[in-house]
Amino acid sequence: MHASLRLNNISRLPEPTQTLATSAANGSTDDLKKLLNLIPDSPHADLRLFLPAFYANLDVDDIPDLRRQLNTDSGELSTHISCAVLAVKGLAELQEHLVSRACSEVWSTIWTWIQFLEECEQRRPSESRNQQLIITTILSLRRDPETALTIKNTPGVRAVFTKGWVAAVDDPNTPRELMIELCKFVVEDMNAQDPRNSQELIEGAGGVDGLAALIVKHIRRAIPQTDYTLDPHDGLALLAAYEILQKGPLAHSLANHGIVKAVSTALCALCGPEMVMTEQMIPLSVGTIMTHIAEFPGYPWVQEGLDSGLLRGVVLCASRRMPLIDLALYALFRETLPRALVYHSTLSSLRAAIDDAQPFTNTEAFRRSTLFDEWNTFVALAEERLAVMEKFDRGEIGQTRACDHLECGAIRTDDTLLRCGACRSAFYCSQACQAADWSAGHRKACRTYLKRENEECTHLSFRDHTFLRALVHHDYDAARAEVLVRQAGFLRAHPAPGALGVVAFDYRRGRPQIEVGPAAAAADPAERGARAVRSGGRVEIHVVLVSEGGQRSRGHFVPFRSSDGRVQERVAAIAASEGMVTAEVVENDGVLALEVARTH
Ligand SMILES: [Zn+2]
Ligand SMILES: [Zn+2]
Repeated sequence: MHASLRLNNISRLPEPTQTLATSAANGSTDDLKKLLNLIPDSPHADLRLFLPAFYANLDVDDIPDLRRQLNTDSGELSTHISCAVLAVKGLAELQEHLVSRACSEVWSTIWTWIQFLEECEQRRPSESRNQQLIITTILSLRRDPETALTIKNTPGVRAVFTKGWVAAVDDPNTPRELMIELCKFVVEDMNAQDPRNSQELIEGAGGVDGLAALIVKHIRRAIPQTDYTLDPHDGLALLAAYEILQKGPLAHSLANHGIVKAVSTALCALCGPEMVMTEQMIPLSVGTIMTHIAEFPGYPWVQEGLDSGLLRGVVLCASRRMPLIDLALYALFRETLPRALVYHSTLSSLRAAIDDAQPFTNTEAFRRSTLFDEWNTFVALAEERLAVMEKFDRGEIGQTRACDHLECGAIRTDDTLLRCGACRSAFYCSQACQAADWSAGHRKACRTYLKRENEECTHLSFRDHTFLRALVHHDYDAARAEVLVRQAGFLRAHPAPGALGVVAFDYRRGRPQIEVGPAAAAADPAERGARAVRSGGRVEIHVVLVSEGGQRSRGHFVPFRSSDGRVQERVAAIAASEGMVTAEVVENDGVLALEVARTH
Protein backbone atom coordinates (compact mmCIF):
# COMPACT_ATOMS: atom_id res chain seq x y z
CA MET A 1 0.00 0.00 0.00
CA HIS A 2 1.24 3.46 -0.85
CA ALA A 3 2.38 5.37 2.26
CA SER A 4 -0.15 8.16 1.76
CA LEU A 5 -3.01 5.64 1.99
CA ARG A 6 -1.93 4.06 5.29
CA LEU A 7 -4.28 4.42 8.27
CA ASN A 8 -1.64 5.84 10.64
CA ASN A 9 -1.76 9.14 8.68
CA ILE A 10 -5.09 9.86 10.38
CA SER A 11 -3.31 10.43 13.72
CA ARG A 12 -1.80 13.58 12.23
CA LEU A 13 -5.26 15.14 11.85
CA PRO A 14 -6.35 17.67 14.47
CA GLU A 15 -9.24 16.82 16.77
CA PRO A 16 -12.19 16.46 16.44
CA THR A 17 -11.56 15.55 12.79
CA GLN A 18 -9.21 12.79 13.85
CA THR A 19 -11.93 10.98 15.84
CA LEU A 20 -14.40 11.44 12.99
CA ALA A 21 -11.93 10.07 10.43
CA THR A 22 -11.13 7.08 12.65
CA SER A 23 -14.80 6.22 13.00
CA ALA A 24 -15.30 6.69 9.26
CA ALA A 25 -12.36 4.37 8.57
CA ASN A 26 -14.06 1.76 10.76
CA GLY A 27 -17.15 1.74 8.57
CA SER A 28 -19.54 4.29 10.07
CA THR A 29 -21.72 5.52 7.20
CA ASP A 30 -22.76 8.59 9.19
CA ASP A 31 -19.19 9.63 9.85
CA LEU A 32 -18.19 8.93 6.26
CA LYS A 33 -20.93 11.35 5.20
CA LYS A 34 -19.75 13.95 7.72
CA LEU A 35 -16.18 13.60 6.52
CA LEU A 36 -17.37 14.08 2.91
CA ASN A 37 -19.17 17.25 3.95
CA LEU A 38 -15.99 18.59 5.51
CA ILE A 39 -14.04 18.39 2.26
CA PRO A 40 -15.00 21.81 0.80
CA ASP A 41 -14.02 23.73 3.96
CA SER A 42 -10.97 21.85 5.24
CA PRO A 43 -7.43 23.15 4.94
CA HIS A 44 -5.42 21.78 2.06
CA ALA A 45 -2.91 20.05 4.34
CA ASP A 46 -5.67 18.08 6.12
CA LEU A 47 -7.37 16.79 2.99
CA ARG A 48 -4.41 14.57 2.11
CA LEU A 49 -4.90 12.92 5.51
CA PHE A 50 -8.58 12.16 4.76
CA LEU A 51 -7.53 9.70 2.06
CA PRO A 52 -6.83 6.69 4.36
CA ALA A 53 -10.22 7.04 6.12
CA PHE A 54 -12.02 6.52 2.80
CA TYR A 55 -9.57 3.99 1.43
CA ALA A 56 -9.93 1.73 4.48
CA ASN A 57 -13.54 1.05 3.43
CA LEU A 58 -12.43 -0.46 0.15
CA ASP A 59 -10.65 -3.61 1.26
CA VAL A 60 -10.92 -5.88 -1.79
CA ASP A 61 -10.40 -8.92 0.44
CA ASP A 62 -13.93 -8.33 1.78
CA ILE A 63 -15.49 -8.86 -1.63
CA PRO A 64 -15.58 -12.71 -1.80
CA ASP A 65 -17.41 -12.81 1.54
CA LEU A 66 -19.85 -10.07 0.45
CA ARG A 67 -20.47 -11.91 -2.81
CA ARG A 68 -21.61 -14.95 -0.80
CA GLN A 69 -24.12 -12.72 1.01
CA LEU A 70 -25.65 -11.54 -2.27
CA ASN A 71 -28.26 -14.32 -2.21
CA THR A 72 -29.39 -13.60 1.32
CA ASP A 73 -31.17 -10.45 2.39
CA SER A 74 -28.31 -9.21 4.52
CA GLY A 75 -28.35 -5.83 6.25
CA GLU A 76 -24.61 -6.07 6.75
CA LEU A 77 -24.10 -6.26 2.99
CA SER A 78 -26.15 -3.09 2.39
CA THR A 79 -24.21 -1.15 5.02
CA HIS A 80 -20.90 -2.36 3.63
CA ILE A 81 -21.91 -1.34 0.11
CA SER A 82 -23.08 2.10 1.29
CA CYS A 83 -19.69 2.61 2.93
CA ALA A 84 -17.87 1.55 -0.21
CA VAL A 85 -19.93 3.94 -2.33
CA LEU A 86 -19.19 6.85 0.04
CA ALA A 87 -15.52 5.87 0.06
CA VAL A 88 -15.36 5.89 -3.74
CA LYS A 89 -17.03 9.28 -3.76
CA GLY A 90 -14.53 10.69 -1.23
CA LEU A 91 -11.50 9.41 -3.11
CA ALA A 92 -12.83 10.79 -6.39
CA GLU A 93 -13.31 14.20 -4.79
CA LEU A 94 -9.82 14.10 -3.30
CA GLN A 95 -8.15 13.05 -6.55
CA GLU A 96 -5.91 16.13 -6.67
CA HIS A 97 -4.38 15.08 -3.33
CA LEU A 98 -3.33 11.69 -4.63
CA VAL A 99 0.21 11.38 -5.89
CA SER A 100 0.52 9.49 -9.14
CA ARG A 101 1.45 6.08 -7.70
CA ALA A 102 -1.28 6.24 -5.05
CA CYS A 103 -3.76 7.23 -7.74
CA SER A 104 -2.99 4.12 -9.80
CA GLU A 105 -3.40 1.96 -6.73
CA VAL A 106 -6.71 3.63 -5.85
CA TRP A 107 -7.91 3.05 -9.41
CA SER A 108 -7.18 -0.67 -9.35
CA THR A 109 -9.00 -1.01 -6.00
CA ILE A 110 -11.95 1.10 -7.12
CA TRP A 111 -12.20 -0.79 -10.40
CA THR A 112 -12.56 -4.08 -8.49
CA TRP A 113 -15.33 -2.46 -6.43
CA ILE A 114 -17.03 -0.99 -9.49
CA GLN A 115 -17.21 -4.47 -10.97
CA PHE A 116 -18.65 -5.80 -7.73
CA LEU A 117 -21.20 -2.97 -7.56
CA GLU A 118 -22.21 -3.84 -11.12
CA GLU A 119 -22.63 -7.45 -10.05
CA CYS A 120 -24.82 -6.35 -7.12
CA GLU A 121 -26.90 -4.21 -9.47
CA GLN A 122 -27.50 -7.17 -11.76
CA ARG A 123 -28.38 -9.56 -8.94
CA ARG A 124 -30.54 -7.22 -6.91
CA PRO A 125 -31.48 -4.08 -8.83
CA SER A 126 -31.87 -1.21 -6.40
CA GLU A 127 -33.38 2.24 -6.44
CA SER A 128 -30.17 4.09 -5.72
CA ARG A 129 -28.02 3.45 -8.73
CA ASN A 130 -24.39 4.41 -8.72
CA GLN A 131 -23.83 4.97 -12.41
CA GLN A 132 -23.31 8.69 -12.24
CA LEU A 133 -20.86 8.20 -9.35
CA ILE A 134 -18.96 5.64 -11.39
CA ILE A 135 -18.47 7.94 -14.35
CA THR A 136 -17.51 10.93 -12.22
CA THR A 137 -14.98 8.70 -10.46
CA ILE A 138 -13.49 7.45 -13.71
CA LEU A 139 -13.37 11.01 -15.07
CA SER A 140 -11.79 12.30 -11.88
CA LEU A 141 -9.06 9.68 -11.59
CA ARG A 142 -8.08 10.07 -15.23
CA ARG A 143 -6.79 13.56 -14.45
CA ASP A 144 -3.60 11.81 -13.41
CA PRO A 145 -1.93 11.02 -16.75
CA GLU A 146 -0.44 7.70 -15.65
CA THR A 147 -3.76 6.50 -14.23
CA ALA A 148 -5.53 7.75 -17.34
CA LEU A 149 -3.39 5.37 -19.38
CA THR A 150 -4.22 2.47 -17.04
CA ILE A 151 -7.93 3.28 -17.23
CA LYS A 152 -7.78 3.42 -21.00
CA ASN A 153 -6.25 -0.06 -21.07
CA THR A 154 -8.66 -1.61 -18.57
CA PRO A 155 -10.88 -4.16 -20.33
CA GLY A 156 -14.55 -3.61 -19.60
CA VAL A 157 -14.20 0.01 -18.51
CA ARG A 158 -15.97 1.33 -21.59
CA ALA A 159 -19.02 -0.86 -21.05
CA VAL A 160 -19.37 0.38 -17.47
CA PHE A 161 -18.73 3.93 -18.55
CA THR A 162 -21.36 3.77 -21.28
CA LYS A 163 -23.98 2.64 -18.74
CA GLY A 164 -23.18 5.74 -16.76
CA TRP A 165 -23.29 7.85 -19.89
CA VAL A 166 -26.82 6.58 -20.60
CA ALA A 167 -27.86 7.50 -17.05
CA ALA A 168 -26.24 10.94 -17.28
CA VAL A 169 -27.88 11.81 -20.60
CA ASP A 170 -31.28 10.66 -19.34
CA ASP A 171 -30.98 12.72 -16.16
CA PRO A 172 -32.09 16.33 -16.77
CA ASN A 173 -30.05 17.45 -13.74
CA THR A 174 -26.72 16.27 -15.09
CA PRO A 175 -24.47 19.31 -14.92
CA ARG A 176 -23.21 20.70 -18.19
CA GLU A 177 -19.60 20.30 -17.02
CA LEU A 178 -20.15 16.57 -16.67
CA MET A 179 -21.62 16.39 -20.18
CA ILE A 180 -18.52 18.14 -21.50
CA GLU A 181 -16.23 15.76 -19.60
CA LEU A 182 -18.19 12.84 -21.03
CA CYS A 183 -17.59 14.10 -24.52
CA LYS A 184 -13.89 14.45 -23.90
CA PHE A 185 -13.65 10.92 -22.57
CA VAL A 186 -15.60 9.53 -25.48
CA VAL A 187 -13.47 11.37 -28.00
CA GLU A 188 -10.06 10.92 -26.39
CA ASP A 189 -10.23 7.59 -24.59
CA MET A 190 -12.98 5.50 -26.05
CA ASN A 191 -11.05 4.90 -29.28
CA ALA A 192 -14.11 3.54 -31.01
CA GLN A 193 -12.03 2.61 -34.05
CA ASP A 194 -10.87 -0.46 -32.13
CA PRO A 195 -13.59 -3.09 -32.70
CA ARG A 196 -13.20 -4.44 -29.15
CA ASN A 197 -13.84 -0.99 -27.77
CA SER A 198 -16.87 -0.30 -29.92
CA GLN A 199 -18.19 -3.71 -28.89
CA GLU A 200 -17.93 -2.56 -25.26
CA LEU A 201 -19.75 0.68 -26.05
CA ILE A 202 -22.56 -1.25 -27.70
CA GLU A 203 -22.72 -3.69 -24.78
CA GLY A 204 -22.81 -0.89 -22.22
CA ALA A 205 -25.62 0.91 -24.04
CA GLY A 206 -27.64 -2.30 -24.24
CA GLY A 207 -27.17 -2.91 -27.96
CA VAL A 208 -26.56 -1.07 -31.23
CA ASP A 209 -29.93 0.60 -31.01
CA GLY A 210 -29.25 1.78 -27.49
CA LEU A 211 -25.91 3.29 -28.45
CA ALA A 212 -27.45 5.07 -31.43
CA ALA A 213 -30.20 6.48 -29.24
CA LEU A 214 -27.60 7.59 -26.71
CA ILE A 215 -25.52 9.51 -29.23
CA VAL A 216 -28.55 11.23 -30.71
CA LYS A 217 -29.88 12.16 -27.28
CA HIS A 218 -26.51 13.57 -26.31
CA ILE A 219 -26.39 15.80 -29.36
CA ARG A 220 -29.98 16.92 -28.80
CA ARG A 221 -29.16 17.82 -25.21
CA ALA A 222 -26.10 19.69 -26.32
CA ILE A 223 -27.92 21.78 -28.88
CA PRO A 224 -30.41 24.26 -27.50
CA GLN A 225 -33.27 24.61 -29.94
CA THR A 226 -34.08 28.21 -29.18
CA ASP A 227 -30.93 30.27 -28.90
CA TYR A 228 -27.45 30.24 -30.36
CA THR A 229 -25.41 30.65 -27.22
CA LEU A 230 -23.25 27.57 -27.28
CA ASP A 231 -19.84 26.51 -26.22
CA PRO A 232 -17.30 24.14 -27.80
CA HIS A 233 -18.87 21.28 -25.90
CA ASP A 234 -21.47 21.06 -28.64
CA GLY A 235 -18.80 20.63 -31.22
CA LEU A 236 -17.32 17.86 -29.13
CA ALA A 237 -20.65 16.09 -28.95
CA LEU A 238 -20.76 16.08 -32.71
CA LEU A 239 -17.21 14.89 -32.96
CA ALA A 240 -17.94 12.11 -30.48
CA ALA A 241 -20.89 11.01 -32.55
CA TYR A 242 -18.87 11.13 -35.71
CA GLU A 243 -16.05 9.06 -34.24
CA ILE A 244 -18.41 6.35 -33.17
CA LEU A 245 -20.84 6.26 -36.02
CA GLN A 246 -18.11 5.35 -38.47
CA LYS A 247 -18.92 1.82 -37.41
CA GLY A 248 -21.13 0.29 -40.08
CA PRO A 249 -23.80 -1.48 -38.01
CA LEU A 250 -24.68 1.73 -36.21
CA ALA A 251 -25.57 3.70 -39.29
CA HIS A 252 -29.12 2.48 -39.74
CA SER A 253 -29.97 2.71 -36.06
CA LEU A 254 -28.58 6.21 -35.84
CA ALA A 255 -30.76 7.28 -38.73
CA ASN A 256 -33.81 5.67 -37.15
CA HIS A 257 -33.13 7.56 -33.96
CA GLY A 258 -33.00 10.88 -35.75
CA ILE A 259 -29.28 11.56 -36.17
CA VAL A 260 -29.99 13.60 -39.31
CA LYS A 261 -32.41 15.84 -37.46
CA ALA A 262 -30.07 16.21 -34.51
CA VAL A 263 -27.02 17.05 -36.60
CA SER A 264 -28.92 19.32 -39.03
CA THR A 265 -30.30 21.30 -36.11
CA ALA A 266 -26.83 21.44 -34.63
CA LEU A 267 -25.30 22.62 -37.87
CA CYS A 268 -27.83 25.41 -38.12
CA ALA A 269 -27.37 26.50 -34.54
CA LEU A 270 -23.59 26.30 -34.57
CA CYS A 271 -23.09 28.11 -37.86
CA GLY A 272 -25.48 30.85 -36.90
CA PRO A 273 -24.65 34.48 -36.18
CA GLU A 274 -22.35 33.57 -33.29
CA MET A 275 -20.30 31.23 -35.48
CA VAL A 276 -19.45 29.05 -32.51
CA MET A 277 -18.76 25.97 -34.55
CA THR A 278 -15.07 25.38 -35.03
CA GLU A 279 -13.93 25.20 -38.62
CA GLN A 280 -12.83 21.61 -38.14
CA MET A 281 -16.25 20.55 -36.89
CA ILE A 282 -18.22 21.67 -39.92
CA PRO A 283 -16.91 19.16 -42.45
CA LEU A 284 -17.34 16.47 -39.81
CA SER A 285 -20.96 17.29 -39.19
CA VAL A 286 -21.72 17.78 -42.85
CA GLY A 287 -20.04 14.43 -43.41
CA THR A 288 -22.21 12.90 -40.71
CA ILE A 289 -25.37 14.18 -42.35
CA MET A 290 -24.21 13.13 -45.80
CA THR A 291 -23.36 9.61 -44.66
CA HIS A 292 -26.93 9.16 -43.60
CA ILE A 293 -29.11 11.06 -46.00
CA ALA A 294 -27.34 9.71 -49.06
CA GLU A 295 -27.33 6.10 -47.97
CA PHE A 296 -30.88 4.88 -47.50
CA PRO A 297 -33.38 3.71 -50.12
CA GLY A 298 -35.73 6.45 -51.19
CA TYR A 299 -33.82 9.14 -49.29
CA PRO A 300 -36.21 9.40 -46.34
CA TRP A 301 -33.58 11.25 -44.34
CA VAL A 302 -33.23 13.98 -46.92
CA GLN A 303 -36.74 15.00 -45.94
CA GLU A 304 -35.81 14.84 -42.28
CA GLY A 305 -32.79 17.04 -42.98
CA LEU A 306 -34.84 19.53 -45.00
CA ASP A 307 -37.38 19.73 -42.18
CA SER A 308 -34.60 20.44 -39.67
CA GLY A 309 -32.96 23.36 -41.45
CA LEU A 310 -30.33 21.48 -43.44
CA LEU A 311 -30.39 23.97 -46.32
CA ARG A 312 -30.03 26.96 -44.04
CA GLY A 313 -27.19 25.17 -42.25
CA VAL A 314 -25.24 24.48 -45.42
CA VAL A 315 -25.74 27.99 -46.75
CA LEU A 316 -24.33 29.33 -43.49
CA CYS A 317 -21.42 26.89 -43.70
CA ALA A 318 -20.69 27.78 -47.31
CA SER A 319 -20.43 31.44 -46.36
CA ARG A 320 -17.26 30.56 -44.49
CA ARG A 321 -15.43 29.70 -47.68
CA MET A 322 -13.27 26.79 -46.61
CA PRO A 323 -12.06 24.24 -49.19
CA LEU A 324 -12.91 21.33 -46.88
CA ILE A 325 -16.47 22.49 -46.43
CA ASP A 326 -16.88 23.15 -50.12
CA LEU A 327 -15.95 19.59 -50.97
CA ALA A 328 -18.65 18.12 -48.76
CA LEU A 329 -21.23 20.65 -49.92
CA TYR A 330 -20.56 20.10 -53.64
CA ALA A 331 -21.54 16.47 -53.30
CA LEU A 332 -24.69 17.52 -51.50
CA PHE A 333 -25.78 19.99 -54.18
CA ARG A 334 -24.57 18.11 -57.22
CA GLU A 335 -25.59 14.58 -56.32
CA THR A 336 -27.47 13.81 -53.15
CA LEU A 337 -30.13 16.50 -53.25
CA PRO A 338 -30.88 16.50 -57.03
CA ARG A 339 -31.22 12.71 -57.00
CA ALA A 340 -33.78 12.88 -54.23
CA LEU A 341 -35.97 15.38 -56.09
CA VAL A 342 -37.94 12.64 -57.86
CA TYR A 343 -39.69 11.70 -54.63
CA HIS A 344 -42.89 13.44 -53.66
CA SER A 345 -42.07 13.01 -49.99
CA THR A 346 -38.81 14.94 -50.44
CA LEU A 347 -40.38 17.66 -52.58
CA SER A 348 -43.14 18.21 -50.07
CA SER A 349 -40.55 19.51 -47.59
CA LEU A 350 -38.51 21.43 -50.14
CA ARG A 351 -40.46 24.67 -50.52
CA ALA A 352 -40.32 25.52 -46.83
CA ALA A 353 -36.65 24.54 -46.67
CA ILE A 354 -35.70 26.82 -49.56
CA ASP A 355 -37.72 29.71 -48.13
CA ASP A 356 -35.98 29.16 -44.81
CA ALA A 357 -32.51 29.29 -46.38
CA GLN A 358 -33.08 31.99 -49.00
CA PRO A 359 -32.56 35.03 -46.74
CA PHE A 360 -29.09 33.76 -45.83
CA THR A 361 -28.09 33.53 -49.49
CA ASN A 362 -28.26 37.31 -49.87
CA THR A 363 -25.15 37.91 -47.84
CA GLU A 364 -21.97 39.15 -49.45
CA ALA A 365 -20.06 36.20 -47.99
CA PHE A 366 -22.35 33.65 -49.64
CA ARG A 367 -22.39 35.47 -52.97
CA ARG A 368 -18.63 35.32 -53.06
CA SER A 369 -18.53 31.65 -52.00
CA THR A 370 -17.76 28.97 -54.54
CA LEU A 371 -21.07 27.36 -53.70
CA PHE A 372 -23.17 30.27 -54.91
CA ASP A 373 -23.49 28.90 -58.45
CA GLU A 374 -24.20 25.39 -57.20
CA TRP A 375 -26.97 26.75 -55.03
CA ASN A 376 -28.59 28.61 -57.92
CA THR A 377 -28.40 25.57 -60.19
CA PHE A 378 -29.98 23.48 -57.47
CA VAL A 379 -32.74 25.97 -56.81
CA ALA A 380 -33.55 26.17 -60.54
CA LEU A 381 -34.04 22.40 -60.68
CA ALA A 382 -35.92 22.46 -57.40
CA GLU A 383 -38.33 25.12 -58.72
CA GLU A 384 -39.03 23.06 -61.85
CA ARG A 385 -39.85 19.98 -59.80
CA LEU A 386 -41.90 21.95 -57.33
CA ALA A 387 -43.98 23.29 -60.20
CA VAL A 388 -44.64 19.72 -61.34
CA MET A 389 -45.47 18.68 -57.79
CA GLU A 390 -47.87 21.57 -57.35
CA LYS A 391 -49.69 20.62 -60.56
CA PHE A 392 -49.80 17.03 -59.35
CA ASP A 393 -51.15 18.07 -55.94
CA ARG A 394 -53.87 20.16 -57.61
CA GLY A 395 -54.88 17.09 -59.59
CA GLU A 396 -53.87 18.63 -62.91
CA ILE A 397 -51.50 15.88 -63.95
CA GLY A 398 -50.94 12.23 -63.28
CA GLN A 399 -54.39 11.50 -61.96
CA THR A 400 -55.42 9.33 -64.88
CA ARG A 401 -54.51 5.83 -65.89
CA ALA A 402 -55.35 3.48 -68.68
CA CYS A 403 -57.27 0.28 -68.10
CA ASP A 404 -54.63 -2.44 -67.99
CA HIS A 405 -56.66 -4.74 -70.21
CA LEU A 406 -54.82 -4.42 -73.50
CA GLU A 407 -57.83 -4.61 -75.76
CA CYS A 408 -59.49 -1.79 -73.80
CA GLY A 409 -56.95 0.78 -72.63
CA ALA A 410 -59.66 3.28 -71.67
CA ILE A 411 -58.28 6.34 -69.89
CA ARG A 412 -59.96 7.06 -66.55
CA THR A 413 -59.17 8.97 -63.37
CA ASP A 414 -57.44 6.91 -60.68
CA ASP A 415 -60.33 6.83 -58.26
CA THR A 416 -62.79 5.34 -60.75
CA LEU A 417 -60.57 2.37 -61.66
CA LEU A 418 -60.71 -1.03 -59.99
CA ARG A 419 -57.39 -2.17 -58.60
CA CYS A 420 -56.11 -5.75 -58.54
CA GLY A 421 -56.45 -6.72 -54.87
CA ALA A 422 -53.48 -9.09 -54.97
CA CYS A 423 -50.63 -7.14 -56.56
CA ARG A 424 -52.23 -3.70 -56.26
CA SER A 425 -50.39 -2.61 -59.39
CA ALA A 426 -52.93 -3.39 -62.14
CA PHE A 427 -55.97 -1.17 -62.79
CA TYR A 428 -59.18 -1.85 -64.72
CA CYS A 429 -62.14 0.14 -65.92
CA SER A 430 -64.55 -2.75 -65.21
CA GLN A 431 -64.79 -6.25 -63.78
CA ALA A 432 -65.15 -7.57 -67.31
CA CYS A 433 -61.75 -6.07 -68.25
CA GLN A 434 -60.19 -7.41 -65.06
CA ALA A 435 -61.43 -10.94 -65.81
CA ALA A 436 -60.32 -10.72 -69.44
CA ASP A 437 -56.82 -9.52 -68.50
CA TRP A 438 -56.55 -12.23 -65.85
CA SER A 439 -56.95 -14.93 -68.51
CA ALA A 440 -54.83 -13.00 -70.98
CA GLY A 441 -51.78 -13.17 -68.70
CA HIS A 442 -52.20 -11.19 -65.49
CA ARG A 443 -52.80 -14.50 -63.64
CA LYS A 444 -49.10 -15.20 -64.16
CA ALA A 445 -47.75 -11.65 -63.91
CA CYS A 446 -49.66 -10.79 -60.74
CA ARG A 447 -47.36 -12.92 -58.58
CA THR A 448 -44.25 -11.24 -60.00
CA TYR A 449 -45.66 -7.77 -59.36
CA LEU A 450 -46.64 -8.71 -55.84
CA LYS A 451 -43.17 -10.01 -55.06
CA ARG A 452 -41.53 -6.93 -56.47
CA GLU A 453 -43.73 -4.51 -54.56
CA ASN A 454 -43.27 -6.34 -51.28
CA GLU A 455 -39.58 -7.04 -51.41
CA GLU A 456 -38.09 -4.10 -53.15
CA CYS A 457 -40.11 -0.96 -52.82
CA THR A 458 -41.36 -0.92 -49.28
CA HIS A 459 -39.77 2.47 -48.75
CA LEU A 460 -41.83 4.19 -51.42
CA SER A 461 -45.37 5.24 -50.68
CA PHE A 462 -48.16 4.95 -53.22
CA ARG A 463 -47.99 8.73 -53.53
CA ASP A 464 -44.28 8.58 -54.35
CA HIS A 465 -45.03 6.00 -57.04
CA THR A 466 -47.88 7.93 -58.62
CA PHE A 467 -45.86 11.12 -58.53
CA LEU A 468 -42.94 9.45 -60.28
CA ARG A 469 -45.37 8.36 -63.00
CA ALA A 470 -46.75 11.89 -63.26
CA LEU A 471 -43.25 13.36 -63.42
CA VAL A 472 -42.16 11.15 -66.25
CA HIS A 473 -45.41 11.87 -68.15
CA HIS A 474 -44.72 15.56 -67.69
CA ASP A 475 -41.12 15.30 -68.84
CA TYR A 476 -42.14 13.06 -71.72
CA ASP A 477 -44.52 15.73 -72.97
CA ALA A 478 -41.75 18.29 -72.80
CA ALA A 479 -39.31 16.07 -74.66
CA ARG A 480 -41.67 14.25 -77.01
CA ALA A 481 -39.89 15.32 -80.18
CA GLU A 482 -36.57 14.15 -78.82
CA VAL A 483 -38.06 10.82 -77.77
CA LEU A 484 -39.54 10.20 -81.19
CA VAL A 485 -36.28 11.01 -82.94
CA ARG A 486 -34.45 8.62 -80.65
CA GLN A 487 -37.05 5.93 -81.20
CA ALA A 488 -36.68 6.28 -84.93
CA GLY A 489 -32.92 6.11 -84.52
CA PHE A 490 -33.24 2.96 -82.48
CA LEU A 491 -35.50 1.26 -85.01
CA ARG A 492 -33.08 2.15 -87.75
CA ALA A 493 -30.27 0.44 -85.89
CA HIS A 494 -32.50 -2.55 -85.06
CA PRO A 495 -34.51 -3.23 -88.22
CA ALA A 496 -35.71 -6.71 -87.14
CA PRO A 497 -39.52 -6.94 -87.17
CA GLY A 498 -41.06 -6.55 -83.72
CA ALA A 499 -37.93 -4.89 -82.26
CA LEU A 500 -38.92 -2.98 -79.20
CA GLY A 501 -37.18 0.12 -78.02
CA VAL A 502 -37.46 0.92 -74.35
CA VAL A 503 -37.38 4.61 -73.55
CA ALA A 504 -35.29 5.31 -70.47
CA PHE A 505 -35.60 8.48 -68.42
CA ASP A 506 -32.50 8.61 -66.33
CA TYR A 507 -33.01 10.92 -63.31
CA ARG A 508 -29.81 10.02 -61.56
CA ARG A 509 -28.14 13.32 -62.36
CA GLY A 510 -31.04 15.67 -61.77
CA ARG A 511 -32.74 16.51 -65.08
CA PRO A 512 -33.68 13.40 -67.05
CA GLN A 513 -31.38 12.09 -69.74
CA ILE A 514 -33.45 10.31 -72.37
CA GLU A 515 -32.25 7.24 -74.19
CA VAL A 516 -33.86 4.51 -76.24
CA GLY A 517 -32.34 1.08 -75.89
CA PRO A 518 -33.19 -2.56 -76.51
CA ALA A 519 -35.78 -4.07 -74.19
CA ALA A 520 -33.35 -6.74 -73.05
CA ALA A 521 -31.14 -4.12 -71.47
CA ALA A 522 -33.86 -3.16 -69.00
CA ALA A 523 -34.48 -5.25 -65.91
CA ASP A 524 -37.52 -7.54 -65.88
CA PRO A 525 -38.93 -6.51 -69.25
CA ALA A 526 -40.23 -9.89 -70.46
CA GLU A 527 -43.87 -9.68 -69.47
CA ARG A 528 -44.23 -5.95 -70.03
CA GLY A 529 -42.33 -6.20 -73.29
CA ALA A 530 -44.63 -8.95 -74.47
CA ARG A 531 -47.66 -6.80 -73.67
CA ALA A 532 -46.18 -3.85 -75.55
CA VAL A 533 -45.57 -6.03 -78.62
CA ARG A 534 -49.10 -7.50 -78.40
CA SER A 535 -50.58 -4.02 -78.20
CA GLY A 536 -49.53 -3.22 -81.75
CA GLY A 537 -47.94 0.11 -80.88
CA ARG A 538 -50.55 1.32 -78.42
CA VAL A 539 -48.37 0.61 -75.39
CA GLU A 540 -44.83 1.81 -75.05
CA ILE A 541 -42.60 0.77 -72.21
CA HIS A 542 -40.69 3.49 -70.41
CA VAL A 543 -38.15 2.91 -67.72
CA VAL A 544 -37.56 5.57 -65.10
CA LEU A 545 -34.13 5.25 -63.62
CA VAL A 546 -33.77 6.72 -60.19
CA SER A 547 -31.03 6.62 -57.64
CA GLU A 548 -32.09 5.00 -54.40
CA GLY A 549 -29.27 6.00 -52.13
CA GLY A 550 -25.73 4.65 -51.86
CA GLN A 551 -24.71 3.06 -55.14
CA ARG A 552 -28.17 1.60 -55.74
CA SER A 553 -30.42 2.51 -58.65
CA ARG A 554 -33.83 1.26 -59.60
CA GLY A 555 -35.76 1.13 -62.84
CA HIS A 556 -39.47 1.76 -62.44
CA PHE A 557 -41.60 0.74 -65.43
CA VAL A 558 -44.11 3.21 -66.74
CA PRO A 559 -46.28 2.03 -69.64
CA PHE A 560 -47.50 4.81 -71.94
CA ARG A 561 -50.48 4.44 -74.17
CA SER A 562 -51.85 6.09 -77.26
CA SER A 563 -55.33 5.48 -78.55
CA ASP A 564 -54.00 3.70 -81.61
CA GLY A 565 -50.74 2.44 -83.02
CA ARG A 566 -50.31 5.13 -85.64
CA VAL A 567 -47.50 6.98 -83.93
CA GLN A 568 -45.39 3.87 -83.81
CA GLU A 569 -46.19 3.15 -87.44
CA ARG A 570 -44.99 6.59 -88.42
CA VAL A 571 -41.85 6.21 -86.34
CA ALA A 572 -41.16 2.88 -88.04
CA ALA A 573 -41.76 4.45 -91.45
CA ILE A 574 -39.33 7.25 -90.71
CA ALA A 575 -36.79 4.77 -89.41
CA ALA A 576 -37.06 2.86 -92.68
CA SER A 577 -36.53 5.99 -94.79
CA GLU A 578 -33.21 7.56 -95.54
CA GLY A 579 -31.53 10.71 -94.32
CA MET A 580 -31.36 12.49 -91.03
CA VAL A 581 -34.46 12.73 -88.94
CA THR A 582 -35.72 15.68 -87.01
CA ALA A 583 -39.19 15.79 -85.63
CA GLU A 584 -41.79 18.21 -84.46
CA VAL A 585 -44.83 17.09 -82.53
CA VAL A 586 -48.28 18.44 -83.15
CA GLU A 587 -51.27 17.60 -81.01
CA ASN A 588 -54.24 17.19 -83.30
CA ASP A 589 -57.69 16.40 -81.94
CA GLY A 590 -56.14 14.44 -79.13
CA VAL A 591 -54.33 12.19 -81.59
CA LEU A 592 -50.60 12.40 -81.67
CA ALA A 593 -49.30 13.28 -85.11
CA LEU A 594 -45.76 13.35 -86.18
CA GLU A 595 -44.44 15.93 -88.58
CA VAL A 596 -41.27 14.80 -90.05
CA ALA A 597 -38.63 16.79 -91.78
CA ARG A 598 -36.31 14.78 -93.90
CA THR A 599 -32.99 16.33 -94.65
CA HIS A 600 -30.11 15.04 -96.66
ZN1 LIG B 1 -61.15 -1.71 -69.65
ZN1 LIG C 1 -52.57 -8.47 -59.77
